Amino acid sequence: MPCVASTHRAGAVISVCLFRLKGLFLASDIQQLRQAIEECKQVILELPEQSDKQKDAVVRLIHLRLKLQELKDPHEDEPNMRIILEHRFYKEKSKSVKQVCDKCSTFIWGLIQTWYTCTGCYYRCHSKCLNLITKPCVRSKVSHQSEYELTICPEAGLDSQDYRCAECRAPISLRAVPSEARQCDYTGQYYCSNCHWNDLAVIPARVIHNWDFEPRKVSRCSMRYLALMLGRPVLKLREINPLLFNYVEELVEIRKLRQDILLMKPYFITCKEAMEARLLLQLQDRQHFVENDDMYSLQDLLDVSSGRLGASLTDIHTMFAKHIKLDCERCQAKGFVCELCKEGDILFPFDSHTSVCQDCAAVFHRDCYYDNSTSCPRCMRLNLRKQTQEPAEGTWQQ
Ligand SMILES: [Zn+2]
Ligand SMILES: [Zn+2]
Ligand SMILES: [Zn+2]
Ligand SMILES: [Zn+2]
Ligand SMILES: [Zn+2]
Ligand SMILES: [Zn+2]
Repeated sequence: MPCVASTHRAGAVISVCLFRLKGLFLASDIQQLRQAIEECKQVILELPEQSDKQKDAVVRLIHLRLKLQELKDPHEDEPNMRIILEHRFYKEKSKSVKQVCDKCSTFIWGLIQTWYTCTGCYYRCHSKCLNLITKPCVRSKVSHQSEYELTICPEAGLDSQDYRCAECRAPISLRAVPSEARQCDYTGQYYCSNCHWNDLAVIPARVIHNWDFEPRKVSRCSMRYLALMLGRPVLKLREINPLLFNYVEELVEIRKLRQDILLMKPYFITCKEAMEARLLLQLQDRQHFVENDDMYSLQDLLDVSSGRLGASLTDIHTMFAKHIKLDCERCQAKGFVCELCKEGDILFPFDSHTSVCQDCAAVFHRDCYYDNSTSCPRCMRLNLRKQTQEPAEGTWQQ
C-alpha cells in the first residue's frame, strides 16, 4: 500500500503505515492511528480538489479508519454481551492474557483486540470471528440431551464423512493432503486441525466398559462437551455395566456409603440442629448423593479411581452418624429398639448389623429378623390398630 508523502504531515502517516507493516502491536498504536487520521483529513483539505494526490489521501484515510476499527479499544462500541447460536458471549476485560481464538486458531491480542468468551461452553474468540461461528453452543446440548456416547470410539470411516471435517466440512485426508485428518476418540469422527487440536480427555465409554481412565485425543467440540458434562450425574452404572461392581471393589463400598447416607437424610431434614449446622451441605458438590444411590458423574468415577471419593464419603458418613447417634438427642430419640429380642443398644437403619422392614421401616438386629423372617411385629401391631379403629365395610358382617 503506497503512502501519501506529499507534505510534512503525511510523514506521520507513513511512519504509522510502516509501523503497522512490521506487525508490531503496541497500546500507542491506536493513539497514533487516531492522530494519523486527523492529519490525513487535514492533508485532504489542503491538497488540490480532485487531484490524484487527494484521491490517494482519501484511500489512505479509509485504510486508516478500517485499521482503527480492527484494533479499537475493547471498552468502546462493542456490546458487552452477544447471543449467537445459543452461545452467551461476554466481552472479556483481560488485556494481558494471551489466548488462542477457537474460531480462527490465531492469537488473541488482548491489548488491542476485543474478544469474547461464552459463559456456557467457554468458547472464546475474537470479536471479528463471532459472526463466522457455525457450531451451536454445546451447553444447550448438555441441557437438552445430556447423554454420553457410550460406544468406545464409534468409527464409521473417513469415507462416510465424504473426506471432510465432521465439524467445518473442510477437506481432509489421512495422508494429510490437503489437510490432516485427526480422529476424535469420543465421537470416532475425523476433524481438520482447526477443529481438533489434539486436546486430551478421559473418555466415558472407556471408563464404563474398561475402567480405563487414560486420556485420549479429542476434538475441540468434544473437549468442551466432556468438560461441561464432567460433574453431571448421568451414568446409571447398574444399568449400563452392572458387572463393574464385581470388578471394582471401591464401587461396592461407595454404593454402601451412599445407601447409608440416604437413610440418614430423613433424620437431618426433620432435625433443626442438623439443618442449622448445614450438615447436608457437606454434599453440596454432589447433590445427587442426597437424592439417589445409583447415578454417577464421570467426576465421581475419576474420584473413585483416585480414592478421593471413598475417603471423603467415609468422613461425611462418620460425621453424619456421630450427629445422629451421639451428639443430637432429638435424632437419638428416633432410633429403634429391636422388637424381636427387645435387647441391646438403640438401632439405626444405617447400622451395619441391622435389617429394616420394607413396609414400616422398623429396624431389627439382622440375626433376629432372619430368625423371625415371617412377620414384623410393628407391622402386625399397626395392622391390628387399623382394624379396630376403622373397620372396613365388609367386617361388620363377620
Ligand atoms: Zn479469531
Ligand atoms: Zn457456548
Ligand atoms: Zn474442521
Ligand atoms: Zn439431630
Ligand atoms: Zn434383636
Ligand atoms: Zn414392619
